[in-house]
Amino acid sequence: MKKHNRSIESYFESIGAGASDVGLSKEDIKKAFLHKLFYHLGRVPALTTPNDLYTAMALTIRDRALRKFVRSIEEFTQQDARGVAYLSAEYLPGPHLGNNLLNLHIVEETKEALAELDLDLDEILDQEGEPGLGNGGLGRLASCFMDSLATLGIPSIGYGIRYEFGIFKQEIKEGWQMETTDKWLHSGNPWEIVRPEISYVVKFGGRTEHRTNGQNRYEVDWLPDSEIKGTAYDTPILGYQSNGIIMRLWKAEAVESFDFSVYNIGDYYRAVEKKLRSENITKVLYPNDENLSGKELRLKQQYFFVSCSLQDMIRLHTMQGRKLKKFHEKFAIQLNDTHPSIAVAELMRLLVDEHEIEWDEAWDITRQTFAYTNHTLLPEALEKWTVSLLGRILPRHLEIIYEINSRFLEELRDKGYSGDQIARMSLIDEQGEPSVRMAHLATVGSFKVNGVSELHSRLLKSQVLNDFADLWPGKFTNVTNGVAHRRFVAVSNPGLANLISEKIGFGWLTNLSSLSELEKFAKDEKFQQRWRDVKLQNKTALTRFIEEQTGVKVDPDMLFDVQVKRIHEYKRQHLMVLHIIDLYLRIKDGKTENIAPSTFIFAGKAAPGYFLAKLIIRLITAVADLVNDDEEVNKLIKVVFLPNFNVKQAQRVYPAADLSEQISMAGKEASGTGNMKFALNGALTIGTLDGANVEIREEVGDENFFLFGQTTEEIQQTRREGYRPYQYYEENEKIKRVLDFLVSGELANGDKDLFKPLYHNLLQQDPYQLLKDFDSYCAKKEEVFKVWNDQEEWTKKSILNVARMGKFSSDRSIQDYCDRIWQVKPVKIQE
Ligand SMILES: *Cc1c(COP(=O)(O)O)cnc(C)c1O
Repeated sequence: MKKHNRSIESYFESIGAGASDVGLSKEDIKKAFLHKLFYHLGRVPALTTPNDLYTAMALTIRDRALRKFVRSIEEFTQQDARGVAYLSAEYLPGPHLGNNLLNLHIVEETKEALAELDLDLDEILDQEGEPGLGNGGLGRLASCFMDSLATLGIPSIGYGIRYEFGIFKQEIKEGWQMETTDKWLHSGNPWEIVRPEISYVVKFGGRTEHRTNGQNRYEVDWLPDSEIKGTAYDTPILGYQSNGIIMRLWKAEAVESFDFSVYNIGDYYRAVEKKLRSENITKVLYPNDENLSGKELRLKQQYFFVSCSLQDMIRLHTMQGRKLKKFHEKFAIQLNDTHPSIAVAELMRLLVDEHEIEWDEAWDITRQTFAYTNHTLLPEALEKWTVSLLGRILPRHLEIIYEINSRFLEELRDKGYSGDQIARMSLIDEQGEPSVRMAHLATVGSFKVNGVSELHSRLLKSQVLNDFADLWPGKFTNVTNGVAHRRFVAVSNPGLANLISEKIGFGWLTNLSSLSELEKFAKDEKFQQRWRDVKLQNKTALTRFIEEQTGVKVDPDMLFDVQVKRIHEYKRQHLMVLHIIDLYLRIKDGKTENIAPSTFIFAGKAAPGYFLAKLIIRLITAVADLVNDDEEVNKLIKVVFLPNFNVKQAQRVYPAADLSEQISMAGKEASGTGNMKFALNGALTIGTLDGANVEIREEVGDENFFLFGQTTEEIQQTRREGYRPYQYYEENEKIKRVLDFLVSGELANGDKDLFKPLYHNLLQQDPYQLLKDFDSYCAKKEEVFKVWNDQEEWTKKSILNVARMGKFSSDRSIQDYCDRIWQVKPVKIQE
């Protein structure tokens, strides 16, 4: 086929696209929807299933998204713009349909078009599942960034893995978490487009051969023992009234489906087996929110998607006649945590071994291409791969890592670094079994390193990567996380969105700072009443959902006190439970004064192998059973554990919360983004000075934030002085009573042993210092109750919280990445 130079617009004109073909009027949408139903799905109205209706609507909207997308690509290409590749092993996009309708500004048109066909948009929206291709915050951040990249018109692409099974589905059976597989593709996925022609071969294992060629050039051949093909699956991501970008996910397949050299029947089956083994690589997401060392398949997943992505970028770069040596001028590659950090070695391999660029020049290109985002300070979560495993799976990369390391350590020696310092900074950890420190590889191989909140970036520089920050102070920076406020307010809380827009217009959708115009209404009684009405409506809707999911009836007039996020000791869900037990005991004693009637809502998944986290879920369900069944107690408090927290559920929960629990031990939560989503929906926060809580409090004002607990410095001081949790048990009557209750048999039908592991953990180590922070937390809860009882005061604080949250849009985060790291400018399409 010959190349075409006509503009896309002229093609659009010739097919009427824009006018009616992918038009946005009610009539256009209705026509297109029926068209999809008949000619794409072959369905007659009398026999359609809810999934058919959803699929037809999704395809209708996808056409409209693609129209934007192809225009964006044309513009990016014509302007030869510098772009960004975001490499992330996880994405949590959530349902696409509602968000795309908002972005195309056709919610009302679609609703009406469907109503004329006697169909209900909300029912169709409810039909959509979600791609659970991530564990929690990190994956959701990647998806928020896709939304903002598209909205800001940044030439960009998000690369990742198309897991066939995403994060497990959580069910609660007899109070325990049970995991079942997430078959997110079983009803089809109308949003993705498979690109059989965009595929790359990825090698694994084997050995290397070194030699000097005829021109005296040192060369290395990698002779792998297996090869796997990665095929691209594209999902268009729309921005708000703006461009479209793609999320390109790789699926693993056998290089050849059948080995034609084999005729024998037995070997035929062996050949098919080999195909199945290849496909295993992208079969399942590891359901751990932390790092898993030693899992061979996990390393293969990381390398697989990184290699496909880099090969794809090199193709895109050289396709239009550009020189590979200018790769870094065309692309900035952002590493979302260390999961894709093997990319540093892979780009070196591609440049040096496959494209014959000399080492020094290749290293310059590499170091000007990558930037690395660190997401954790937990030492146990810093990724490492043993030298023996890495050498077996990626023999050439291990050699490259050693070469990078020896040159780097030489540099340090020249600068006069001590042996101790050099051992600390080496890419290889020689203590115990030698292993590769992926955070060091990412840091050495990048031009910028960032943390995800002010506090986290400061701790990163002063602790985890301290030596590197001293060596390269200019390399370190901060980009505070943000969230896609269009999804998490405009789509999921239309009541609030309408009220806001009615007062201050629609500017906040693309410029969140303009929410500050709401400040002047904070004390307006009429406005306050409408603000409360919206919250009550959202709580009523959640009340129905809770009953459907758990059978528990709750009262929307109660204070909804919510902690939803992954279950982890450092996040301290059990601190909130200890307080609930304290309230229970008080109520049983008849001391009910000052307790504001409250419903405590929890949700979140525990890693399947994390025993204490699963026991915390069991504790929540045990306390729920006790409290909810007790007539004396359940008038004042109720407890709910909502199973299977995911983006779709999150979109129901955040808008209905009055109080947001952000109570991690200071110094442990890198940023948090749940904290932002709650506050943007008008919840007040009870929290520690951890992650982005610090900045949220700075913005909303100390008087509008319920602060408690030790600071990071105080936590460390407590530890240095020798923290003895048992002392708190002995000296604090309340703590003793609550902890003894755990093992009293009053929970879980008389089982005294069930919660002993938690009891002992708290008394003996209490690694997250719950007992030390307990009194301060309880005292702050008293203040929460007091303010809640003054609804005008509460509402004023709620309005001020929303009005002052302008900083926490992911639009602002992406703008910061552009300015501080990528040096990339927007290319907006003109319509
Ligand atoms: C925002 C979000 C998270 C992250 O929550 P944190 O409170 O920041 O830990 C996790 N999962 C889902 C589904 C989310 O939407």
